[in-house]
Amino acid sequence: MTQIIDGKLISKQIKEELKEKSKILLNEKGITPGLALLLVGDNPASKSYVASKEKFCAELGFKSVVLRLPEDSNEEVVLSYINSWNSDSSIHGILVQLPLPKHINEANIIQSISPKKDVDGFHPESFGRLVIGLPGFIPCTPAGIAELIKRYKIETKGKHVVVVGRSNIVGKPIANLMYQKNADANSIVTICHTAAPDLRYYTKQADILIAAVGVPKIIKAEDVKEGVVIIDVGINRIDDASSEKGYRIVGDVDFDSVKEKASAITPVPGGVGLMTVAMLMLNTYKSASGEIS
Ligand code: NDP
Repeated sequence: MTQIIDGKLISKQIKEELKEKSKILLNEKGITPGLALLLVGDNPASKSYVASKEKFCAELGFKSVVLRLPEDSNEEVVLSYINSWNSDSSIHGILVQLPLPKHINEANIIQSISPKKDVDGFHPESFGRLVIGLPGFIPCTPAGIAELIKRYKIETKGKHVVVVGRSNIVGKPIANLMYQKNADANSIVTICHTAAPDLRYYTKQADILIAAVGVPKIIKAEDVKEGVVIIDVGINRIDDASSEKGYRIVGDVDFDSVKEKASAITPVPGGVGLMTVAMLMLNTYKSASGEIS
């Protein structure tokens, strides 16, 4: 029987746990976790991501400050808001919704966020801490993947984890998490990308396959071995005339065929995607409570 790794269920559990923990934080220390969200421009996907983060904050009783700036805002304006939040003690996390308009240097913006409030985990200091194995903010999607693996008690020690994709937000951080010498990881890790001459050669070796590619259903049943654990990070829109919206969301994995061979698999939607916002809230809580400082 293939186990469906249910991101909806786990993200709900995390939400309930965070509601409880933040009540205690307020009662014992008088602290309400605060998250500042900055959106530049009108990208519809970015607008909806920011709205869902704002809603999640409200549901948890977190403070949220949402700043929506016009597309033509300059870098200095963005930096000035980040600087003010860096020194605002009621703000424990700062998130700049990416991508930013082309005229703004993304690296400058990310590096201007105080590493102490870097709840997205994209600051080079956070990434360096992750690589070395020091406590710090882990980017939300990889943190969500690790949380699913942990809560479903998937054996990782000595297992071959194959990550397809090497982006800074998913592929690189999850690969770096999985080889760490700790009880939640300790895996053997391979990272694949477009220069892999024969992707299947690698994917077929995976005990745990993490697909963060952005290509709909690129991983098929013939690309994996029997009993593999599949973590599908992909969120891809494909045309679907039968759907009201005219499209539907699919992952990087051909779920129906791969499910037959997998021992466990995340669905899309309903898998990793829902974990990302939950982990953002967890990072914000950890910053507010001093668990990460
Ligand atoms: P990027 O486009 O930044 O990276 C994609 C990676 O896949 C690159 O490293 C690329 O290689 C590699 N790749 C692309 N095509 C192939 C191929 N044919 N064979 C082997 N490797 C390939 O994507 P992201 O990491 O940002 O996102 C990946 C997917 O995850 C997307 O569908 C995205 O929507 C989704 N996503 C979901 C999130 C969530 O659940 N909350 C959060 C973030 C992303 P190369 O480096 O050589 O170009």
